[in-house]
Amino acid sequence: VFHAEDVTKTYQMGEVQVHALRGIDLDLYESEFVVLLGPSGSGKSTLLNILGGLDIPTSGSVRYKDHDLTVYKDSLLTRYRRDHVGFVFQFYNLIPSLTARENVALVTEIAANPLAPEEALRLVGLGERLDHFPAQMSGGEQQRVAIARAIAKRPDVLLCDEPTGALDLKTGILVLDAIERVNRELGTTTVVITHNVDIAQMADRVIRLSDGRIISDEANPDKKAPAELAW
Ligand code: ATP
Ligand code: MG
Repeated sequence: VFHAEDVTKTYQMGEVQVHALRGIDLDLYESEFVVLLGPSGSGKSTLLNILGGLDIPTSGSVRYKDHDLTVYKDSLLTRYRRDHVGFVFQFYNLIPSLTARENVALVTEIAANPLAPEEALRLVGLGERLDHFPAQMSGGEQQRVAIARAIAKRPDVLLCDEPTGALDLKTGILVLDAIERVNRELGTTTVVITHNVDIAQMADRVIRLSDGRIISDEANPDKKAPAELAW
């Protein structure tokens, strides 16, 4: 569904040019569950933001189906994001005065073909936490509410930038398990950035970045279930 060719992103910082991406060629397929790995500064977030229409490349081409993601036209990118993309970030950004169900309902009220908030929360394993406020939930549970919120509009694509960055390994595995279930049950094309190689084993495909380039891109034939990962 994504086709990227020779994508570069360069930031001009005064006199200095920072090359965040140095020629990325990449195809992502419908319903894939992909993990992006790589050291800090290797360009992971830059690439994810370009796929999500939050940023545009300096050169090269990126398409999502028939959407050109390189033309700087805010209204087009905004519509692309609204109609096709769900985002999850390291910090959950839930509204503290609203319950889990109400946080998700904020999205379902304005989407064309949403899941019910209860359905989205059940899918991430929070069917028992519908009326909890963020402060009454663990970090992993709050992140799963954020995932329910991201998927409630049934996006075609789910992009997660270090969704487990603030969590311990065991909790992170449960969060990835929720993302994996969304991918499997809704067929959402999913890209997750992580630093954690254990968590990467839960994906169908693992892409490694280093210094703005893809250094490996491998299918993961023995994808691990959470219970198989030691903790
Ligand atoms: P991390 O694991 O630390 O999140 P990352 O792989 O996500 O790292 P990016 O955030 O994509 O890395 O950054 C890639 C490079 O581009 C870094 O050198 C970073 O300093 C630079 N960079 C990113 N965003 C900007 C910006 N808005 N302005 C200037 N430089 C930037
Ligand atoms: Mg990053």
